[in-house]
Parts: sequence; structure tokens; C-alpha cells
Amino acid sequence: MPKDGKRARGVVVAIDGPAGAGKSTVARELARRLGYVLVDTGALYRGVALAARERGVDWQDGDALGALAGALRLGFEMAPDGTPRLTIDGRQRAAEIRTPEMSMGASHVSKHPPVRAALMGIQRGLGREGGVVLEGRDIGTVVFPDAEAKIFLTASAEVRARRRVEDLAERGIEADFETTLREVQERDAQDSQREVAPLKPAADSVTVDTTGVPIGEVVRRLEEIARSAGA
Ligand code: C5P
Repeated sequence: MPKDGKRARGVVVAIDGPAGAGKSTVARELARRLGYVLVDTGALYRGVALAARERGVDWQDGDALGALAGALRLGFEMAPDGTPRLTIDGRQRAAEIRTPEMSMGASHVSKHPPVRAALMGIQRGLGREGGVVLEGRDIGTVVFPDAEAKIFLTASAEVRARRRVEDLAERGIEADFETTLREVQERDAQDSQREVAPLKPAADSVTVDTTGVPIGEVVRRLEEIARSAGA
């Protein structure tokens, strides 16, 4: 809860967790049930990685990336099914940020404090009034430490890799299981060992393990948590 009392449009629901835990699917369905707006914060990091690649900015150059992140106009358009689609400077780039290369790029650019600082303002601006589900890695720990509902969604690395392969296949991208599993583990290590805003459950979050749990059941559990927090 914010210090100055209630938010205008409802509560803030923070969903954090590693890649492939089912966050996007679950967050989209939860937002729909609550009548909340969904914010996909990973898309912002992916957008910075994509724009950097296009402009020849090195993924290791934190200062240049921070300046770039601050200069880009990053926003979302809502697809009819409630999926937020990233726009960069007014142009929709939702498909281009979903490649395995941009997954890795996002993980690289997100290590740099200037990038995180630039994207923090955007995320807080989108969520401050409440009525929002934000999914990411550090929403409950850093971006909205005062979120009313905090969920840490997780699953075994094997399950997450399998979901990733299926996800990519649906988008016409072929990926093999072993390579994807290695990438998932590499990205987990990178995300949880970085110095700024590492991936970890907030002390006051509820951990939900989705290994072997049907998606509908996960959504029901999350809705329960959100409703009891005032959604
Ligand atoms: O969720 P998604 O897979 O799109 O995130 C891509 C990458 O962006 C993550 O691996 C992570 O490095 C970074 N990220 C982050 N903080 C967030 C969301 C994403 O560091 N809140």
C-alpha cells in the first residue's frame, strides 16, 4: 500500500519469477479476470536490446544503453486478447523482441544500472494508480516494494524449457530442447546473480510453483491472492 493511502484504480499485483514459469499466460488471464491492465516489463528490456542492436550500441556499454533507454519512447498497445504489444517510438515491435537472440540481449542489457534506472520511471508511471498486473523479475522487490499483492511464480528448469520450445514453435521458430534448457539455465544464473535487482522472491511474496499444475488452477490461486489483497 502506498504511504499516502489508496490508489485510484485498484491495487498493484506484482508477478515475478524466472523465464518460462508461465508468467505471461497466467498474468494475462489474471488481469482479464480482475479487469486490470497488464504490463509486461520484460518487453521493455527486450525493446532496449533491439534498439541497441539496430543502432550499433554495444550490449555491454551500460552508459550508452542507459542514454538510449531514456531517449526511446517505449509504450504498449493492447491486443484484443489483452496481450500488451510493445511499441518503440510509436512503431509496434512485438514480434521482433520475441526471438531467442533478444531474450539473451534483454538479459545482458538488464544488468546495467543506468538501463534499470531509465526503465524504472516508465514502470512506476504505468502502475502507480493501481488496477494493474505487472510481470517481471524485480517488481515486488524494487519497482513496487509497496505492491499490495506479490507473487513469485516458479517451475522446474525442465518444465520451463519445454514451455519455451512450445512457445517458440507456435511462433514458427524451431528450437531444440537441450539448447533451450541450457539457455534457460544460463539466463536464470545471469538474472539471479547480477548485482542490481537480482531475481529473488520478495520477503513478503507468496511463491507459487507451477510444475505439473494446470494453468487454470494457477490462475485461480493467484486470483485468490489478489482478491484477498483488495483487488
Ligand atoms: O520476461 P522476459 O523473458 O521477457 O524478460 C527478458 C529479460 O529481461 C529477463 O531475462 C531479465 O534479464 C530482464 N528483466 C529484468 N527485470 C524485469 C523484467 C525482465 O531484468 N522486471
